[in-house]
Amino acid sequence: MALLTILEFPDPRLRTKAADVDPADLATPAFQTLIDDMFESMYDAPGIGLAASQVDVHKRFMVIDVTDDHSRPLVFVNPRITARDGEQVYQEGCLSVPGIYADVTRSNTITVEALDRHGQPFTLEADGLLAVCIQHEMDHLDGKLFVDYLSPLKREMVRKKLLKAKRAAAA
Ligand SMILES: [Zn+2]
Repeated sequence: MALLTILEFPDPRLRTKAADVDPADLATPAFQTLIDDMFESMYDAPGIGLAASQVDVHKRFMVIDVTDDHSRPLVFVNPRITARDGEQVYQEGCLSVPGIYADVTRSNTITVEALDRHGQPFTLEADGLLAVCIQHEMDHLDGKLFVDYLSPLKREMVRKKLLKAKRAAAA
């Protein structure tokens, strides 16, 4: 397995709208290795979710595990939200926007339909942090970042802060 490079805001590649996965591709060793590498990279970061878009693969799938002990790894391929209910506000962060946290309002409960890593369809009802994480990762597949929910002024502050941190790291 290998650690993958995670793209960081404001990298324009994060704005790419991902294409559907051809379920036949899931049977290839390359795809299964990529999923394993995404889990390894996510746990290493550490994070609780990673969309393919963040590792510069513009296909609609993502990996999630919101447990502390890495006991519930979930893979969502071609996910679709089929029902939503209520609202919640959660202070989100993102591996592509390091060191930045901000409140985002999202649906409280969602029903999501997707394929698992072997192409089997499943339906999951999620609430709380798992629902936040699924909605956050699905945004990535559409080229959207959690900072897009902030005011333009605040987003510009985030952009400047990250560019400054990058320059400092390179110096
Ligand atoms: Zn993210």
